[in-house]
Amino acid sequence: MKKARQSHLFYQSHGRRPVLDQARGIYMWDVDGNRFLDGSSGAMVCNIGHSNETVLEAMRRQMDKSTFGYRLHFETEPAELLASKVAALSPEGLDKVFFVSGGSEAVESAIKLARQYALSIGQGKRWKVISRFPSYHGCTLGALALTGYTSLTQPFDPMMQEMPKIPAPTAYLDGRDPDDPATGRYYADMLETCIQEEGPESVLAFIVEPIGGASSGALVPPAGYMERIREICTEYNILLIHDEVMTGGGRTGRFFAGEHWGVSPDILVFSKGFSAGYAPLGAMVAHNDIVDAVLADGGFLHGFTYAGNPLACSAGLAVIEQIEAQGLLANAEKVGDILKHHLSGLMERYSFIGDVRGMGLLLAFELVSDRETMQPLPREISAFNRLVEIAYSNGLIIYSRRTRGGLEGDHFLVCPPMITSESQVEEIMALLVKSLDTFEREVAP
Ligand code: PLP
Repeated sequence: MKKARQSHLFYQSHGRRPVLDQARGIYMWDVDGNRFLDGSSGAMVCNIGHSNETVLEAMRRQMDKSTFGYRLHFETEPAELLASKVAALSPEGLDKVFFVSGGSEAVESAIKLARQYALSIGQGKRWKVISRFPSYHGCTLGALALTGYTSLTQPFDPMMQEMPKIPAPTAYLDGRDPDDPATGRYYADMLETCIQEEGPESVLAFIVEPIGGASSGALVPPAGYMERIREICTEYNILLIHDEVMTGGGRTGRFFAGEHWGVSPDILVFSKGFSAGYAPLGAMVAHNDIVDAVLADGGFLHGFTYAGNPLACSAGLAVIEQIEAQGLLANAEKVGDILKHHLSGLMERYSFIGDVRGMGLLLAFELVSDRETMQPLPREISAFNRLVEIAYSNGLIIYSRRTRGGLEGDHFLVCPPMITSESQVEEIMALLVKSLDTFEREVAP
């Protein structure tokens, strides 16, 4: 006898979603024909929109040739071409590209390369990687140890090496002026204090999301922050790792967000928008000196079976070519400014929106119970879930989290694909206002 149809899939919780049928551009349809506007590009992934025919065609061509070549047996053309392209787009000196299949793998690779580099230059006492709170660097145990997000990390504390954390520069919560370079210095100097407290000879690296992602909701650093961080790392011989898993690939209006401040890390990692959802892909890009030293010292003791997969690399290459051919960096900047202007306008209509922030098409708004004190909405309201559900029922996908600094707050990422047009911004806003009206009536005080 046939059993009743039952899903054997599981993710994080019991909640089930409609079954996806197809996706085109910034829209997605479920099998019942309901349409959704992808206002968060999945999880800030689908930067060039869904089902781009040129990318699909490039992948089909590669599929007809080969879909796998193990790295110990073959180099592949797509991996070689993509590595050259990535090196050309990366800051000067960062010419060595190591492929992986996602963000957590990229972060793991970066911290292991950093550690091996320290060993190869006779600095084996260095092992601590300083990160920030809040932050998100991935879910594997190494990356999780760097993640500043208590509800995700706590259950695994006994299994992880504790790593030092400094506060992220939440100027908007602390009543500091983000445009004043003194603010940037104030937060960046916390890194120097931490290094001194930990013992400079034990610190290996500092990892930072140039613009905060899901953990802090598009938190843009205050003036001078990124530059001062770079200075401190150089001064103490500490490797600077930019986690551009979410920002890399153009969403902020530059291919890498670090470019906004003209700051080069020693290692950078990126993933999501790299292959923009067409195949699992990520990369670690490292300074030549680091890689040369590690390779000369016996080699990098690290690697994943699917690294440099030719199909994923053909997708990555075609995605970058589409970003260039369609001028999507400029579009992200232009349309992002328009969308941010509209989002900021919502603060006049809804007193419970406490802050709007971000750059390009990495934008967020945060809900509060009191704009003066920036106190969050009560946890019981579960605003981060409720508003997302209301928007979803209206056919708009947005992304939310509840966490910030030492306090807790609900923020929502509005990050449509970089192909979004001005008229589609109007559509996003109409759906968002409809959803916020319902939220105000049913949930917010
Ligand atoms: N680092 C950052 C900044 C991220 O935003 C994410 C994912 O959201 C990760 C790392 C982990 O990436 P993945 O989920 O692909 O492992």
